[in-house]
Amino acid sequence: MAVTRRAVLGDALRTLGTRSTPAGRRTMVTRSQLPFAVLLTVALGTILLTDAAAASVLVAIPWAVVAVVTGVLYLVPWEARAEYTGLATSLVDIAALVVVLVDLDGRVPEVALLQLIPIVVMAYCFGIAGLAASILSTFAVALVPASIRADAALAPLEVVGLLVSAVAISLVAVGVYGAAILLTRAQKRLSDAVVAADDQNTVILTVLEAIDAGTAFVRSDRSLAFTNSAFRELVERSRVDPETLAGTRVFGADRTTPLGPEDQMIAQALRGEYFDSRLHWVGEPGAQHSVLVSARPVVRADGVLLGSAFVSKDVTELTDAIRAREDFLAGVSHELRTPLTSIIGYLEVIQDSVDAGTLGVQRELDIVQRNATQLMMRIGDLLHVADETVTMRARPAEVTRIAEQAVGAIRIRAESAGLELTCALCPSFEATIDQNRFAQVIDNLLTNAVKYTPRGGHVRLVLDNDDERMTLSVADDGIGIAEDEQPRVFERFYRTESVRGGAIGGAGLGLSIVRRIVQGHGGEVGVVSAPGAGSTFTVVLPLSPPPGSPALP
Ligand code: ADP
Repeated sequence: MAVTRRAVLGDALRTLGTRSTPAGRRTMVTRSQLPFAVLLTVALGTILLTDAAAASVLVAIPWAVVAVVTGVLYLVPWEARAEYTGLATSLVDIAALVVVLVDLDGRVPEVALLQLIPIVVMAYCFGIAGLAASILSTFAVALVPASIRADAALAPLEVVGLLVSAVAISLVAVGVYGAAILLTRAQKRLSDAVVAADDQNTVILTVLEAIDAGTAFVRSDRSLAFTNSAFRELVERSRVDPETLAGTRVFGADRTTPLGPEDQMIAQALRGEYFDSRLHWVGEPGAQHSVLVSARPVVRADGVLLGSAFVSKDVTELTDAIRAREDFLAGVSHELRTPLTSIIGYLEVIQDSVDAGTLGVQRELDIVQRNATQLMMRIGDLLHVADETVTMRARPAEVTRIAEQAVGAIRIRAESAGLELTCALCPSFEATIDQNRFAQVIDNLLTNAVKYTPRGGHVRLVLDNDDERMTLSVADDGIGIAEDEQPRVFERFYRTESVRGGAIGGAGLGLSIVRRIVQGHGGEVGVVSAPGAGSTFTVVLPLSPPPGSPALP
């Protein structure tokens, strides 16, 4: 396609630039010579047939010269001397025409119009010399035959008429010369632009080749341009059919479900869809690669859709590393769960068989049991990190009491960290929630507030409600979070720059679990923070989860 377009452009440029090359001039001179010779032949033939006395036999000489010159032009290659041969040919034509006109001796003066052919050729093809030759020729054609006419001297008006026609034809020659110059300039500008565009193309293709992401531009007519080897590799691996642009080896995120042609990246992009980092698995089973694909529609300034630009990135190594990390987490979690299940079981046996109240250890046993249960849930969360699920079961529960217990559980830690922990809880109210998960939300937020607030700081929990929803906020005046990192703290394993590698431990999972629990209840969680000034995490939950939310069984 690109080649054809370039060929068309090249052709147009060559046509525009006919006069600037010897070959172009040869073509013009040769092509115009034949009509001149034919017209001269027809004119002379018609005149002689009409009136045999109108011309002498001598008229055959100029005619023969023109015929020979025409034959030579067609048969002999003459580019090497184009400048002179072409100009000489036109001058020979003019001379022959003058001789014919002399011989006609004022009869059929319209034959003089044949001069237009060589005059235009000279003015168009041979620059200023050609223009000068054209003008001189015009005057020669007008004046030479008239001045040597057999009859009486020319009347003044006749002279005026001849001069007017010579000047008019000279002006035509000047116009043709001017047009030729403009055309040459346009051709020069166009070919400069084509060269610049070609250079730009080369630069773009080289840059695209140098980057390790696959890139391509798919035109609206489904042809591909600006592909680089990474993209071609992707196409090959996906077994893309060049007709449909759909691959037979393209799978969804589960690596096994083949994606139908309409769900594949190229088809989607051609529909003008715009997407970022969509994961596709491509290749033969067992040797699949994971690829993140982004696409943008390319729209011209006047709104016409030109096609779509693609970028694909092979992230197989990264996905393998994530998978290895998740396998590791799952393994470790299993190892921890077994002894913990036994601890919780024996705690229940103790609770059932001993009257802890009488022994004065009821509170301590409750705390041990609650913490063991929390620990079990955390391990469960780690286990579920791989499949992104957090199981929930909502039931009517006393929210204020859960919050009080969560604050009570963290108070000792807050005090030993030198922090002032306060809370403002609204009067008791009920909501349909997963009690343990909600406790986990408060616990995670309070634990973070305590962890990330230096000694002497303050942590405050506020719980409020109206008829439809409750609002829980945990505020601290600790280290705070930079603005660009605030949305990211809810991602799995994300820890802010300031705590990474520091003394404060953490896996970067707490807030992602908070968000999943809150969203599972049909609620929202957000953070407002400023580095050095502290953070406020706010959770808004409906008093009962909306239909279809994961918290409902
Ligand atoms: P972690 O186990 O690392 O605390 P979280 O998912 O609970 O994991 O939190 C993610 C990151 O968000 C933390 O590592 C920390 O950088 C930042 N963060 C969370 N809570 C706070 C807070 N109250 N103040 C400052 N930074 C916080």
